[in-house]
Amino acid sequence: MTPISRHIGVLGAGQLGRMLAISGYPLGQKFGFLGAGPGDPSALLGHMHGAVDDARSVEALLRFADVITYESENTDVELVRRLAREVPVYPGAASLYHAQHRGREKGLFDRLGIPCAPYRRVAERAALDGAVAELGLPAVLKTATEGYDGKGQYLVREPGELDAAWAAMAGREAVLEGFVAFRRELSIIAVRNAADEHVYYPLVENRHHDGILRTTIAPAPAVEPAVQQKAEGYMRALLDEMDHVGCLALELFETEDGLLANEMAPRVHNSGHWSIEGAQTSQFENHVRAITGLPLGETTPRQPWAAMVNIIGETGPVEEVLRMPGCHLHLYDKAERPGRKLGHVNVLADTREALDAALARLAPFLP
Ligand code: AMP
Repeated sequence: MTPISRHIGVLGAGQLGRMLAISGYPLGQKFGFLGAGPGDPSALLGHMHGAVDDARSVEALLRFADVITYESENTDVELVRRLAREVPVYPGAASLYHAQHRGREKGLFDRLGIPCAPYRRVAERAALDGAVAELGLPAVLKTATEGYDGKGQYLVREPGELDAAWAAMAGREAVLEGFVAFRRELSIIAVRNAADEHVYYPLVENRHHDGILRTTIAPAPAVEPAVQQKAEGYMRALLDEMDHVGCLALELFETEDGLLANEMAPRVHNSGHWSIEGAQTSQFENHVRAITGLPLGETTPRQPWAAMVNIIGETGPVEEVLRMPGCHLHLYDKAERPGRKLGHVNVLADTREALDAALARLAPFLP
């Protein structure tokens, strides 16, 4: 039999790469990372590591890797195209190209009939007035590229704020979006391998604070099967269109009129961290399986309820978590810094009441 072990190269060496490696080692995989430096959370887990902006490190990764993946939608698409001429890179450049630019991403949603908030692309200050006249206020101005965790965004309530909003874009191209009065925020993760097998995790509910994800409830409470099907249909269309291999995450707004797509990420996603203990197969293992051509694993929850609480800024009373039944602590070995994701706690429970009781005990980790 052909061994299933592969050498997996990862562009980026943060916590997502770290959790990919942790989930891939039981399958016999080896990992190499190109990050920023030896302080990266993944660096010391790898069989090789180097710097992504160092040509010799890139050559070393090409020699090391049977397949290459990446951790961030801000990965250089030209680098991915160049590497892909020598080693398969999954997800491919098409996924990265669409996901790293809000204008292209929304154009794709439009083409595939995936509803999203009304929007206008805004390349210069003069275009902003026209966009506001068409969409009305309030509206959200976002940089087309490099936005994450609510950064590079400005909620415009009145015309007097337009100059300040444009200044916040710091000269970058932007997208103006109509403000969505959503009921709640949901997300879904799908996984596809090169043999066109595809699996979907249940929709989850996400709560943010200051633009940063704080808590995920999995599955999202009170989701009709038809809504899950609708979300899976959107994912299927995106996977097929981009010939996507690996995990794909889509953030959605749930509104009175149904789901609106917000943004997608061509990678494992923070709102899927619950799946490490919460699902039969975690998003990380399924990503590793997908990019190495293995059969995909079941996405069904192991217990009726799960939640994920991010540990942000400071580590907090983590020893308390170790005493709590049904709780699992994940720390990324990162130094404390305001707003920085340092780890997360997963909780599994048989009833909603038990889940809420556990979440109440985890309140010290929440804002
Ligand atoms: P994003 O970076 O696009 O995920 O936006 C970060 C957060 O800002 C989202 O999770 C929402 O809570 C909020 N947000 C973004 N876009 C809109 C919008 N068009 N209307 C209302 N809230 C939004």
